[in-house]
Amino acid sequence: MIQTYFIKTFGCQQNESDSERIASYFRNRGFGKAKGMYQADTVVINTCMIREMAENRVYGTVNNLVKNKLKMGKPGKIVVTGCMVGMAARDKSGVFMKLIRKRMPYVDEFLPIEEVGFDHPPLRSDTVNAWVPVSNGCNNFCTFCVVPFTRGREISRPYADILAECRKLAAGGFRKITLLGMNVNSYGADLIVGADNVQVMRDIGRKYFGNKSGKMPAGYVLPDGRKVKPVLVTHLGRLRIPTLFPYLLEDICAIEGIENIDFMSSNPWDFSPELIGTIAKNPKITRKLHLAVQSGSDTVLKRMNRWYKRSEFLKLLRTMREKIKGVEFSTDIIVGFCGETDKEFEETLDLAKKAKFYKAYIAMYSDRPGTAAHKAFKDDVPHPLKKKRWQVLEKMINKPYVESLKRKKIPSKANR
Ligand code: SF4
Repeated sequence: MIQTYFIKTFGCQQNESDSERIASYFRNRGFGKAKGMYQADTVVINTCMIREMAENRVYGTVNNLVKNKLKMGKPGKIVVTGCMVGMAARDKSGVFMKLIRKRMPYVDEFLPIEEVGFDHPPLRSDTVNAWVPVSNGCNNFCTFCVVPFTRGREISRPYADILAECRKLAAGGFRKITLLGMNVNSYGADLIVGADNVQVMRDIGRKYFGNKSGKMPAGYVLPDGRKVKPVLVTHLGRLRIPTLFPYLLEDICAIEGIENIDFMSSNPWDFSPELIGTIAKNPKITRKLHLAVQSGSDTVLKRMNRWYKRSEFLKLLRTMREKIKGVEFSTDIIVGFCGETDKEFEETLDLAKKAKFYKAYIAMYSDRPGTAAHKAFKDDVPHPLKKKRWQVLEKMINKPYVESLKRKKIPSKANR
């Protein structure tokens, strides 16, 4: 009899996209898709640990699944993958692996997502919109974020592979492409400067510019033989990691059949003038941009290790509104980050008013093991105060958005 699998995915679009490749990995081994978790011979749990609540949901799901399957007399196999396994694989002390084994004792296999890789053509559930990962991991080390520990350093997919996948999608009838990366607009840095790009990010002035005007990193040869100058971000008054993202967008725009291109998550510090220009002149690229701000207070941004000030963020939005007709912005905001005072929260409220986001993903700060914030600061904003701040921002940004959707009779996805 044919063996069956079922994948339960927690977390972001990157995880959803990984699950499409995991599905293909099982299909290639002759498995069929089961109707649900309880019918499957093998259940794969693709985990998220961005917040404590997400992690606890994983433990709850796995342990309930085991209990109920044992009751049904059909234990099957349980495979856990995704961020929690990524964290365990990178934790050299072995403490995190011990912890997850203890909290999910009946799991048969902990599968690092890297073992699935990019080689499996994804088994997509949508027939019009396709997610296309362009990179994995992140080098930014925002102090609150666990991603650099769960997914590792940023690694870009080869340029030619991404273009080939997009062309195949267009030929197969897909009309919308969403490019995915944890810091999607820094795509290509490692292709240009090599794996030491974490260091380059911090030392770019010293390494490539000798602290003066210096010279650009060597050019990059695109798959069609064009030699291009890597793009550097000068908006925020500093030199950042070189990227290829504007070229990639241009080349995808040129593919016949693709009508709409979206990308996430982009960060303010890699929004170069070149990228803005590329978006402005290509109507196929979305006008609904997601740009995470996280806080409107300079002192909180500094504690978060975010590389911009509130004034620079607002200036970036102003520039983009001037250059890109009809652009709208959504954002991510964390409330109750370590030591956030009333005044600092007021600054976030003030920025939100000025930025006029049409939607925001607002999260109450959740202390994550392994992060710099966990080591250096105290998670000292009481939960009721975090909740109150969350409610204030929700009411200010998302309530009008949800009401506008209701008027248009569109279901809301304002909270993830
Ligand atoms: S840029 Fe995003 S994914 Fe990377 S560390 Fe910061 S919040 Fe996390």
